[in-house]
Amino acid sequence: MDYIKLRKNNLCVENISALSLTKKYKTPFYCYSLSQLKSNFDNFSNSFKSAKPLVCFSVKCNSNLSILKELKKMGSGADVVSAGELLKALRAGINPKKIVFSGVGKTVEEIELAIKKRVLLINMESENEAILINKVSGKMSKTTSVGIRLNPNVTGKTNKKISTGSKEDKFGLNKNDFTILCKKITKMKNLKLEGISVHIGSQITSTKPFKKVLNVINKLINKTKINFKFIDLGGGMGISYSNKEKELNLSQYAEFVKKFIKNKKAKIIFEPGRFIAANTSILISKIIYIKKSNNKNYIILDAGMNDLMRPALYNAHHKIIPLKKNSRSIIGNIEFVGPICESSDKFLSQRNFSKVREGDYVAITNVGAYGISLASNYNTRPIVAEILVNGSKHKLIKKRQSLESLINN
Ligand SMILES: *Cc1c(COP(=O)(O)O)cnc(C)c1O
Repeated sequence: MDYIKLRKNNLCVENISALSLTKKYKTPFYCYSLSQLKSNFDNFSNSFKSAKPLVCFSVKCNSNLSILKELKKMGSGADVVSAGELLKALRAGINPKKIVFSGVGKTVEEIELAIKKRVLLINMESENEAILINKVSGKMSKTTSVGIRLNPNVTGKTNKKISTGSKEDKFGLNKNDFTILCKKITKMKNLKLEGISVHIGSQITSTKPFKKVLNVINKLINKTKINFKFIDLGGGMGISYSNKEKELNLSQYAEFVKKFIKNKKAKIIFEPGRFIAANTSILISKIIYIKKSNNKNYIILDAGMNDLMRPALYNAHHKIIPLKKNSRSIIGNIEFVGPICESSDKFLSQRNFSKVREGDYVAITNVGAYGISLASNYNTRPIVAEILVNGSKHKLIKKRQSLESLINN
């Protein structure tokens, strides 16, 4: 079920009309549906039920503390890539034994923190990182559970900027280097090699690359003869942003995983981000001006690329819908843009749109993942507020940054 949708031409988030929220909160703001978040998490867990995986939500896609607390209640762990994300996951109450620490450039301080907090696994990406973690662990008189990230040289047929699994990408170790490091680790006495991890990219909508990765891992396990305690399959599951794209077939992926873990004792870990969070949120924005120029109708919003960077950064497509749909339309070329002084501050071009006027509101959809977490203060604009809707209730889960806090340095 879709919890954010038009009902009788009014956009509703669960039982609340989005328009009524604009009377209470200053635009632009992010608005989430808690029921959608729950439904996505349950859908994900149920799809992979037979594998009984540990689901570690990828905190970088949305690190709002209230969202993390809700996910914790659902049983989620966390995949973190910085000290800040680790502390936030812990603050949300997530058990460190459900936290994996990933990332290609962990600092000494971050490694110390991860060891001190006793996270489940540190997924390493190079031999030098292994040497450093071994040294730090020794100093702290600890044995650290680690995984190695494999670069399987499989691309996810996704935007180049969000691909991470090809041999051209900076992530992980190729099969050869992986095997060599496995051997070397046996001599590093403060490390316990427990995991193999992969993550080939984001917004992958075909099951084929995932199947390929499982084959690569299988071969590697047979070759190294290591009984990994954890097999971390990463995230990357794609959703449908436009009518052209279809959501990843999760049950088919689950079938592959089911076959893959037969005769294996390893615990499967997933690190989904986008699949859990993307369609839980809209960015509600007010139309400041409508400007006609050169056969185009520019609809100038109060939201800009600093509030939602994905269109500018990845050419990402986010559907825009009016909070109140008109039976009449604006005919012609429409371009939704923001107020920022950059030509790339553009959200969407399309033919025709529901008739709207200056002062009306629109929602940019599917922005729950890599939306607010990529926001910046560019143009000295405050980070916007976040609202959570649950049934007929709504609450502020993050205040809009004050202008005062921005102008002091
Ligand atoms: C970003 C990231 C994820 C989450 O990716 P999604 O496409 O949002 O599912 C998972 N694991 C690692 C290591 C990542 O860097």
